[in-house]
Amino acid sequence: MTSSASSTALTVTRLGECRHDSPLAKYIAGRGTNEHYVDEDDRVLFDDTISLVRERDVALDELPSFEPGGPRRKIFFAPGTAKVAVVTCGGLCPGLNDVIRGLVLELCNHYGVRQVCGFRYGFAGLVPSNGHPVVPLTPERVDKINELGGTILGTSRGAQDPEIMADTLVELGIDILFVIGGDGSMRGAAGIAAVLTRRALPIGVIGIPKTIDNDIPYIGQSFGFQTSFAVAAASIQAARVEARSAVGGVGLVRVMGRHSGFIACYAALANHDADFVLIPEVPFRLDGDGGFLACLRRRVQDRGSAVVVVAEGAGQELLTPARAEPTARTDDSPSAAVDASGNATLADIGVFLRDRITSDFGAAEQPLTLKYIDPGYAIRSVPAQPSDSVYCVRLAQAAVHAAMAGRTDMVVGRRHNRFVHVPIAMAVSIRNQVAPDGDLWLSVLESTAQPFEMR
Ligand code: ATP
Ligand code: MG
Repeated sequence: MTSSASSTALTVTRLGECRHDSPLAKYIAGRGTNEHYVDEDDRVLFDDTISLVRERDVALDELPSFEPGGPRRKIFFAPGTAKVAVVTCGGLCPGLNDVIRGLVLELCNHYGVRQVCGFRYGFAGLVPSNGHPVVPLTPERVDKINELGGTILGTSRGAQDPEIMADTLVELGIDILFVIGGDGSMRGAAGIAAVLTRRALPIGVIGIPKTIDNDIPYIGQSFGFQTSFAVAAASIQAARVEARSAVGGVGLVRVMGRHSGFIACYAALANHDADFVLIPEVPFRLDGDGGFLACLRRRVQDRGSAVVVVAEGAGQELLTPARAEPTARTDDSPSAAVDASGNATLADIGVFLRDRITSDFGAAEQPLTLKYIDPGYAIRSVPAQPSDSVYCVRLAQAAVHAAMAGRTDMVVGRRHNRFVHVPIAMAVSIRNQVAPDGDLWLSVLESTAQPFEMR
């Protein structure tokens, strides 16, 4: 089926005409060729198969397509005078510092920008009454920050007034704001961009999407994802060792993935240690002959042990509110039901499954040694692995190229292995999820040999 994405929905907003020559000429046009500049008329196709293109039945120029990322010959902001700010919002994710560093180095070293600053503690830092002073960001300040986990700017959840945030940008003379954050942060960024547009202010707002769950659509794989599933894979390996060492050994590993099970799938595929992968996109039943508990008991009988990987958002429909313990979000949960940004906190499927497996094996008088592992915050806070670091710096470079060329209200992403510009409205319009009929889930089924359905 073709997607409903249209050329109009994929059009990126521009602040105005690009009149300045790009200072990158000395890097990319030095040998008498301009080949590295992006042709402003070129597009990256939305679809990737002939059948999808055929289904649309439109002329080539009318096919939905993305604006390509990359450096432009002519840019909107005068390099020497542009003033830039960076903010990180939402939960931690490997690679945040890599992106900050990539932005500062590209801005200062290649575009000649002399003033870059950082807002502290997320959007709260853009509201003066919160009392978080802005910090200067220089190439010296960001040196080696990629070796640290977390974000040197700090982060937060919680709503802030977009009018006040826009006032702050105006008062500080900011020309470009880079927002590094998840779906909520991108909605916040769009809110600021909308205020600036309404006030006819030529200030760019560019998002670099951060999602440990890889649940933002149209951007390819999100940064930090590879590091995250590598850490999760190490926990699964540990669970396998534990399970094989005991009579009736079961390793149960709960990994992140509130609405999308990508970390669970990739971590399980990384070393073929899992016997069952449970994700939010594929509902399962616990009881009955074809249910998960019976399947698990059979697997332990057949092979002596088993490893179960469960994404935090899996099986939520099995948990009644009375039985559910909310997933710990102790840093920022004002109530059991929602966090500071209004996101619903999930019931803890890991603890629930641990208890149900224990009582089920007990009732069947089948020996069980269960080890429950929850790598939790250890995944979010580690420094990025080299593959992610490379991706982060390239995303940051693409974001700077877009910003200096006067784009706004957009995020950078990858499509068909090319950097592209995606309007924020598109990036938050749907959630990227594992398709139960897609090839990733098929790989998981093949690797685990778990039943096609446990319903
Ligand atoms: P994570 O991946 O950790 O969920 P996130 O960016 O989605 O990242 P949130 O805590 O949901 O994290 O949001 C971060 C910031 O964006 C908060 O300051 C929040 O108030 C703001 N925000 C969230 N949703 C919206 C929205 N719909 N409109 C405007 N701002 C929002
Ligand atoms: Mg979010």
